[in-house]
Amino acid sequence: MKLMEDRGRELLARHGVPVPAGRAVSSPEELSDAPERAVVKALVPVGGRGKAGGVKFADGLEEARRRASEILGMEIKGYRVRSVLVAERIEIARELYLSVMVDREAGMPLLMASSEGGMEIESLPEEKIFRAHINPLIGLQPFQLRDLALALRLERGLASQVTDVAKKLYAAFRAEDAELLEINPLAVTPDGRLVAGDAKAIIDDDSIFRHPEHGGGEPDLTPLEREAREKGISFVQLDGNIGVIANGAGLTMATLDALMLHGGRGGTFLDLGGTDDPEKVKQAFRILKKAGPSVILMNIFGGITRCDTVAQGVNDVIKSEGVDVPVVARIKGWYEERARDILREAGLLAATTMDEAAMKATELSRGR
Ligand code: GDP
Ligand code: MN
Repeated sequence: MKLMEDRGRELLARHGVPVPAGRAVSSPEELSDAPERAVVKALVPVGGRGKAGGVKFADGLEEARRRASEILGMEIKGYRVRSVLVAERIEIARELYLSVMVDREAGMPLLMASSEGGMEIESLPEEKIFRAHINPLIGLQPFQLRDLALALRLERGLASQVTDVAKKLYAAFRAEDAELLEINPLAVTPDGRLVAGDAKAIIDDDSIFRHPEHGGGEPDLTPLEREAREKGISFVQLDGNIGVIANGAGLTMATLDALMLHGGRGGTFLDLGGTDDPEKVKQAFRILKKAGPSVILMNIFGGITRCDTVAQGVNDVIKSEGVDVPVVARIKGWYEERARDILREAGLLAATTMDEAAMKATELSRGR
């Protein structure tokens, strides 16, 4: 679950990180007072708001209301702005970067810092980023904090503040079951104080039940994922351009692996589970179509599911609504011959093995 900046700031403040005062409103009228020197920021669960015009300065209440009404209703990276944060504006002399995230490959939390904050971390050159893995059993060690201060070439007064914030950030990361906590920019004021200028927080969806303070927030779903969930379909939207329909989590994962082996980019995938309901198959196929893959790969093993039921559902959708991308199908098990006949009639490309299907789908997805 991604927290928006106002909630992220609250979280940091609870753990002692210096954060300017602010409040979230969803209309200009709701704003009863504003700081003399304010910043008005779009509350959307994505970064890059500054560049998109979602961060504006205002002096006093009247201007803060005007800026709020300009930002409210904007669309930033596909998200409509429904509320804004009006906060005390920090005077910034220098912008640093600080974050802790789960590094899945290392199986450990990773502390990252840079003396060049403000920009997104992805756009920073490698040598500008300090990294330290934290052994979760022993925690963040003093030598790592000294390394950090050295790497960022921080002067003494600032170094102690940065290492203090890093300690608090790691403590917050642990206590809040976070996957990511990021402060960017971590602002240095002209008088040498350190203040969080932004707060990005992602909380592990599987720990939401331990944190009622987030109001039982929902896991992050795309609009299509939400639609699928309402229809009882397990569907995950990813970047790759090959859409996968399989049945059962194991077969779905194996299909994605087979694609990867052939260099195909398995993307959005959908697990039909064991269904005997052609209506559900139709809905599932429609949702996958909506995700806009370049190729669709079906890999069905009919054990509980009857292959011909699935085939019929797919055939119905293709006949009535069409499909403008190639569909490769590998279908095995109960009533597979009948299923193959139905799919052939619908113009699908048949494959006998999962490997062959993955290879075909990968070939077809190239250059699309
Ligand atoms: P993001 O673009 O979504 O990451 O939003 P940020 O909150 O990081 O704001 C983008 C940029 O706006 C920051 O890097 C700062 O340069 C600037 N900014 C944001 N808040 C303040 C503030 O309180 N004071 C000043 N001077 N600049 C700010
Ligand atoms: Mn930022």
